[in-house]
Amino acid sequence: MPTYEFICEKCHKPFTLLISISEYEKKKFRCPKCKSLKVKQQVSAFQTVTSKKS
Ligand SMILES: [Zn+2]
Repeated sequence: MPTYEFICEKCHKPFTLLISISEYEKKKFRCPKCKSLKVKQQVSAFQTVTSKKS
C-alpha cells in the first residue's frame, strides 16, 4: 500500500497515511490528531538526490 503525506490545515501537523487505491479515490482523509477533514496532500519529495552525472 502506498503512503501519502498530508498536512492538516487546522492543526498544521504533517502526517502520513497508508491508503489503498480505493480509499484514495474516496478523497476523504482525516487528520489523526484533530480529526479534521481539511487536510492537504503533500507532494512527496521523492528523488531529491543530487544526481551526479559522472
Ligand atoms: Zn489536524
